Amino acid sequence: MSQLSLRSIRKAFGAVEVIRGIDLDVAEGEFVVFVGPSGCGKSTMLRMISGLEDVTSGEINIAGRDVTQVAPAEREIAMVFQSYALFPHMTVAENIGFGLKLARRPRDEIRKKVDDVAAVLQIGQLLDRTPRELSGGQRQRVAIGRAIIRQPRIFLFDEPLSNLDAALRVQMRLEIARLHQRLAATMIYVTHDQTEAMTLADRIIVFNKGHIEQVGAPMELYERPANMFVAGFIGAPA
Ligand code: ADP
Ligand code: MG
Repeated sequence: MSQLSLRSIRKAFGAVEVIRGIDLDVAEGEFVVFVGPSGCGKSTMLRMISGLEDVTSGEINIAGRDVTQVAPAEREIAMVFQSYALFPHMTVAENIGFGLKLARRPRDEIRKKVDDVAAVLQIGQLLDRTPRELSGGQRQRVAIGRAIIRQPRIFLFDEPLSNLDAALRVQMRLEIARLHQRLAATMIYVTHDQTEAMTLADRIIVFNKGHIEQVGAPMELYERPANMFVAGFIGAPA
């Protein structure tokens, strides 16, 4: 059974159709990367999967359950954005534990889970700081920690590293690969960075103008692109 299945997904904003019939199955534990030019609908697709945006038509299934009409909080999905969206007035520990606090989990349980997550991300020494006192890479770790603590079925990443400098991007990419191994989680990851796509993905999905041009393992797309668009997109220098 697929962890995520998308059936005939369409999305229009007014008269403009930006997603034009997407079908995709993602297996449990799979790392899927979305690539494609700016404006082709990658973020809109993630927002519909997470429930932040309604679909115009089509069906979204998570672990065999139709969630098309289900509220975001009930979908067991966590999203990590390019902008960290941390609460500036809260400490790192409070930021990471916020979702559990909202869910009214006991304080002891929250502290224990925050400590566990901080250990995984190697930010245990930062728990009492506020976001202002952190570097970009540290902030992104906190944002990822906030996602992990809810133990979602599916992680969605929307260009999470594009605000970081090149060296840090490499470090965080390795970190995300390690996390994927460790959590055995299903991940969908949008990026413009070809190295990220080629090294992280089990499968790459090439989007163009609201539809899928090709789906395949990185080397498959590289060696046998279905058309000039994919060849240009995958083959272009990073
Ligand atoms: P990508 O993430 O691939 O760059 P997006 O999903 O952000 O692309 O956008 C796809 C298209 O949908 C773009 O043409 C964008 O302008 C349009 N779009 C996205 N969100 C909205 C919205 N809330 N209202 C109107 N148009 C939107
Ligand atoms: Mg986008």
